[in-house]
Amino acid sequence: MTLNYDEIVRKYEKYVFQTYTRQPLAIKKACGAVVTDVNGKEYIDCVAGIAVNNVGHCHPAVVDAIKRQAEQLIHVSNLYYTENQALLAEELSKLTMLDRVFFCNSGAEAVEGALKLARKASGKKEFVATEHAFHGRTRGALSVTHKEKYRKPFEPLAPAVFVPYNDADAIRAAINENTAGVILEPVQGEGGVIIPSDGYLKEVREICDEKDTLLILDEVQTGFGRTGKWFAKEHSGIIPDIMTTAKAMGGGFPMGAMLAREEVASNFVRGDHASTFGGNALACAAAIANIEVIKKEKLVKRSEELGDYLVKRLEGLNKDYVKEIRGKGLMVGMELSIKCEDIVSKAREQGVLLNCTSESVLRFVPPLTITKEQLDTAVSMLNDI
Ligand SMILES: *Cc1c(COP(=O)(O)O)cnc(C)c1O
Repeated sequence: MTLNYDEIVRKYEKYVFQTYTRQPLAIKKACGAVVTDVNGKEYIDCVAGIAVNNVGHCHPAVVDAIKRQAEQLIHVSNLYYTENQALLAEELSKLTMLDRVFFCNSGAEAVEGALKLARKASGKKEFVATEHAFHGRTRGALSVTHKEKYRKPFEPLAPAVFVPYNDADAIRAAINENTAGVILEPVQGEGGVIIPSDGYLKEVREICDEKDTLLILDEVQTGFGRTGKWFAKEHSGIIPDIMTTAKAMGGGFPMGAMLAREEVASNFVRGDHASTFGGNALACAAAIANIEVIKKEKLVKRSEELGDYLVKRLEGLNKDYVKEIRGKGLMVGMELSIKCEDIVSKAREQGVLLNCTSESVLRFVPPLTITKEQLDTAVSMLNDI
């Protein structure tokens, strides 16, 4: 059975929770940085499933790994060992310079694990988080997510204090005897691609050391080459106590991870945390293939170079409505003086997928495999709009 656009939308309207504002677009397939809708129209994808498809859609090596693994073993639970989880854990530990990994299935779930671990390791209950932070929608993650609209209906949440982002002194002032940890994104994603000043993370690390408080870095969006490093923490050279990652981890396959230094990780003992699907054989096969592709195609370097190129191109645009352009690798935000939803619609009509975050920030997080020509097409079309 092949449904047309209207039939698909009607079923969503009848049967699916109405929690998302969706673009009027039903996608049938995708390859590299090109997405095709149910009518056969093609789009250049500058969203990549929200910083997920870093290796491009349906990368043949990831597809092949999933196919081969699916024929051999899909799932067995964490009651048993699998080779894939062992190999991926080692690889991730090396890539992040953190000692241990807990596998889960999403960003919010990784954050839940991080908050639980920080509470257990510190014996304390409160978190210091930052204004405009986004850490996910489950209850623990929501308690450190800043947006009032997301939080209000679900209060009381876990105790957290919010301080301005990019203000290390504010973090110093907020830490007290009840603080379990400080959580922040190395670059704020949903908050509007906010890049902190150079010394910020290093200073926060020093403050956390001085005050004996755990530092949790949320790299759910910034991981796997997105910002021109494997993980954005490398820009500042710091090592957090706990780190979360997810979005681009499985090459499009849903997967997340929480990592920690041994001294902290050892506070979680058997029974403290678990996930039925976490690190299952199929997800790990996808992630292993995904990491191989990033290495083989040198996508981290490519992210850095193409990110610089994209920022330069955007800076060359008509400046009438442009307030600021910010970028770290291929995580680029163009803040406008107007709301950007109309621009997203017009771009889509012309064949380019863009995302708008924080109402007025156009966010570019395309596949790291996107070509210069595809970026050029997207940018020149923006100029016309
Ligand atoms: C997307 C995101 C999350 C939540 O991830 P989900 O997989 O949607 O639960 C958490 N933290 C950051 C920084 C994110 O960008």
